[in-house]
Amino acid sequence: MDIQWINRHRIDIDGVGITSLVSLPGCPLSCSYCINKEILKREDLIKTISEEDLIDILSIDHSYFLYTNGGITFGGGEPLLQWKHLLRFASLCPSEWNLTIETSLNVPTKYLEPLLQKNFSFIIDIKSLDTRIYREYTGRDNHQVLSNLKLIRRRIPSHKYAIKVPIIPGYTDNKSQQDSIYKLREFGINQETIIPFTYITP
Ligand code: SF4
Repeated sequence: MDIQWINRHRIDIDGVGITSLVSLPGCPLSCSYCINKEILKREDLIKTISEEDLIDILSIDHSYFLYTNGGITFGGGEPLLQWKHLLRFASLCPSEWNLTIETSLNVPTKYLEPLLQKNFSFIIDIKSLDTRIYREYTGRDNHQVLSNLKLIRRRIPSHKYAIKVPIIPGYTDNKSQQDSIYKLREFGINQETIIPFTYITP
């Protein structure tokens, strides 16, 4: 697995309890306000590590994970680009660790589908469900996001995912945020899983 850094002892930030965030390089999107854009391209920060070795390193916080119901969050970048490594990690790590993936879901469905059979939770940043705004902000089409979102809704229980719907200054406002939330509800997404928030711009 290619990783960039590990950030330990995160409390209720990106998952339940105490988590370690493992940042993975690479992303198919080019979001205007991405704070990681330059870092994600820096090959000198990328380390290739086996899943076994990564688990060994992360095990230093095993007891924290157990006592707080915490675990590992994979962020980035787009972690789903390394779906095969995530699958292997999930097969080898202690079963008590809660595993979370932070994703935009803008990846081929074949990357996502195998992970739905494992015990992953997902934190999904949907950006905007307005196709024009999404393209302006990320440089990509969002049709893949929509089909992956529908798959998640069908295949895993709603407590296993959260969908962040941002106000993106200069791109979306309160009304377009509400429009996206309305479309999510039309897809059958539970209101409790939807998290409205506002991007802090650089
Ligand atoms: S999805 Fe995240 S990592 Fe990728 S370009 Fe957008 S903000 Fe950056």
